[in-house]
This record gives sequence, C-alpha cells and structure tokens, in this order.
Amino acid sequence: MTVRGPVPVSQLGRALTHEHIVTDFLGAARWAGPRYDLEAAVTTVRPHLEALKERGVSALFECTPQYIGRGVRLLRQLAEATGVHLVTNTGYYGAAGYKYIPQHAYEESAEELAERWLREWREGIDGTGIRPGFIKLGTDRGALSPLHEKLLRAAARVHRRTGLTICGHTGDGVAAMDQLRILASEEVAPEAFVWVHAQNGTDADRIEAARRGAWISLDGYSLAPGVPERYLEALLALKSAGCWSRVLVSHDDGWAVEGESPRQAPLRLFGNGNPQPYRSLFERLLPDLRKAGCTEADLDQLLRANPARAFGIRVRKLHANST
Ligand SMILES: [Zn+2]
Repeated sequence: MTVRGPVPVSQLGRALTHEHIVTDFLGAARWAGPRYDLEAAVTTVRPHLEALKERGVSALFECTPQYIGRGVRLLRQLAEATGVHLVTNTGYYGAAGYKYIPQHAYEESAEELAERWLREWREGIDGTGIRPGFIKLGTDRGALSPLHEKLLRAAARVHRRTGLTICGHTGDGVAAMDQLRILASEEVAPEAFVWVHAQNGTDADRIEAARRGAWISLDGYSLAPGVPERYLEALLALKSAGCWSRVLVSHDDGWAVEGESPRQAPLRLFGNGNPQPYRSLFERLLPDLRKAGCTEADLDQLLRANPARAFGIRVRKLHANST
C-alpha cells in the first residue's frame, strides 16, 4: 500500500525498507503538524529520489511515525513528482523515553489504540485518503514496559484485521525476543514482524530470530568508520546460517526539521555517516558483497524479493499446532 494506493508486490521493484524523508524531533507534546514549507521540502528531497531511480530503486518505505514528524502530504507530492513508490505507516514510536508518545496512549486500552490505527487504514490519514502500508513502533533496550507491551498488542490486533506488517524499532536482542513472545501470545506469526535496527543485536540473536521467521532489518548502513565492515560481517553470518531470505538492508537516512522554533524551519540531513542520503549501500555495500562471493541473484533477493515478501499485505497468524 503506497501513498498513491495499492501496488502489486510483483511491481514494487528494488526497495529501501527503512528510510526517512522528513522527521521532526520536537516531541509529541509540542508537535502540531509539519514545520516546513511543502514546496521547499519537495525541492530539497526530489533530486535524491530521482537519483535513487538511477540506482534501480523504485520504492522507499518512510519509517517516520505520527508525532515524530510523519507528513503524508509531502510524501504524496514527492511520489507524484518522481514516480517512486513511497510507503507510510500507522502506529506510535515509543523509543527515546516516550518523547513521541501522545497523552491518549497512556490512557486508552490496546483495543482503543488499535481502533485509531484501523481508522487510518480504513479512511486514510488526516483527511487525505492516504493509507498506511505498515505499522511502526519503537522500543528501547531490554524487556518491554507495560506501555510498550500495550502498543505492541494494539499493533498485533491491527495486523490480524489488516495483514499490515509490524516494524519494531528495537534497542537490542532482548527487546526483539520479547516482542516476538508478545506477538505469539496474540497469535501473530514472526513472519509479520520486522526487527528494525537488528544491527543493535548479536549474530546469535539475529540468526535465532530469523530462524523463527522474523525479518532481520540491518538498516543503519553508512560510511562511518567501522560500519561497512560490521554490516558485511553480519550479512555474511546470516548468509552462511541459511537466513538470506529473511534479511532487509537500508540506510535510515533522511532530513530533520532544524531547531525548536514552532515556526517553519529549514531541513537538515541526518548526516549519520552518510554525506549523501540513500546512496552508500550502492556505492560500498553491494560491491563489498560481490567481492565476498554474492551473486547478482543474491543481491536482487536482498533488495527486491525480500522487501516484497516482508511488506506484502496478508494476515500471518500463528497456527495452533506451531511451536
Ligand atoms: Zn529510522
């Protein structure tokens, strides 16, 4: 489900599954809608989406949830201008000590929260008719707090009724395994869960989660010192463990709104080790993987087949007889 409507998974093409366009770190208590000029933002971002097409990428999953800057009007305008499939999300980002969690999330039940997200699925977001293509949550390190658990149970209920994949920004392997445990108690299969920021776990955690069926998202690729080597090693470990069909890669690049002023402000690149957004994976990781013996079919699986399977919309319930 893209911001311009449904696209058959066979036509998604190569995809970056964890990127941002614009994020706003103001916090849920202060955020009241986009703080940028729409036309200026289009001008800033558009060339980088056009450049993606030159690298053979036709889809980008925008992982910025509501209350941390999600701006679907900008996404639709960019998708219309470039033809790139952009996918947005529903759900709340609870990481960073609940800074991006709205007050009502503390008070409402999992069912009431699920109903809010289902309304976005049925009616569209903020009166635009734009529907979410996945569910995005965020948790910090360690076992889930009761609030995180409630948000995840809400997401599980939305998944069971819509088939939307659940992406969980996750601080470490303990948090990832706890999420899989809670999803199982809601009868949601690991295949419906993307462990976002799996680079924060260990090889053993990643292989264990992948063998159980979860998607392993190594999504902070950059040219910062040591990062290319670390990602290459992690990917090759997953490959030798037979888990290549469960892996996703991305940069987590994007722009943030500058400063704390409630007025419109300029955008600045995250700049987390990537001088240009959405690029280093193609300039460094793919050549490194080829040198390490990966075939073009392997790379195509990583960028095309895996994203299509991970984000294809279908209900993935745990069977009563599965362990
Ligand atoms: Zn992100």
